[in-house]
Amino acid sequence: MIRGCLYLVGAGPGDLAHLTPAARAALAGSEVVVGYRRYLDLLGPLLDGKEAVSSELTEEVARAGRAVDLARRGRTVALVSSGDAGVYGMAGLALEVLREAGWRPGDVPDVEVVPGITAAGAAAALLGAPLMHDWACVSLSDLLTPWPVILRRLEAVAAADFVLCLYNPRSRRRDWQLGAARDVLLRHRAPQTPVGLVTDAYRAGQRVRTTTLADLDPAAVDMLTTVIVGNSATVDCGGMLVTPRGYPVGAVSP
Ligand code: SAH
Repeated sequence: MIRGCLYLVGAGPGDLAHLTPAARAALAGSEVVVGYRRYLDLLGPLLDGKEAVSSELTEEVARAGRAVDLARRGRTVALVSSGDAGVYGMAGLALEVLREAGWRPGDVPDVEVVPGITAAGAAAALLGAPLMHDWACVSLSDLLTPWPVILRRLEAVAAADFVLCLYNPRSRRRDWQLGAARDVLLRHRAPQTPVGLVTDAYRAGQRVRTTTLADLDPAAVDMLTTVIVGNSATVDCGGMLVTPRGYPVGAVSP
């Protein structure tokens, strides 16, 4: 019997150098690759000879359903997300579709989640080492999450002095949320708190900038940007953000 297999693949931030060998192998072993048009384009030659099912960004639920359907019919399918498929990606959507259909581990299709380098890790690497100590991640998209929930999380993160990584900070239609988030943070953190902005990490047109919380201009940020806000100890060292490990140097023996 043909079992069907669904790989939920994180393709990393962009260039093929940051696609893991395991993700590459999952793609190589798949007959069908399903994903957002722009991400499939980034995979270029890896899709040669494969059936590619591309769709628009907004068609996520339909895309997950399509991939699940093909795998249940016995095909080997890779459903691709940028970054990590399990971080604001397609893995959760696909598993929800399967759960609603009564699927349990061991049923057809086999399912494997293949991790990828998420935008937080990619952006942090380009900025230096801002995520060295405890950090939190919040998506500012209120399309699937009510704004009061996002606000409550921002308040908690700001008060607890976590480094904060913001995904989905701003789009053409969601243009006020980043300013609102900055205002929440400014109630708890110094105006000089370092902020890093990374746009199109590891893709053509990559931009890496640092600023401060007080000077954070939402207009400089778009949907392809990840924003990292330092904690009270983060420093901007000539455009590189460093958050201390938490121990004064020399205080802890190796
Ligand atoms: N699954 C993805 C996240 C999808 S949500 C991951 O794990 O990375 C989309 C958001 O991720 C974007 O709005 C942006 O904030 C961030 N992002 C994704 N790729 C990026 C890149 N190459 N450079 C900067 N930010 C990126």
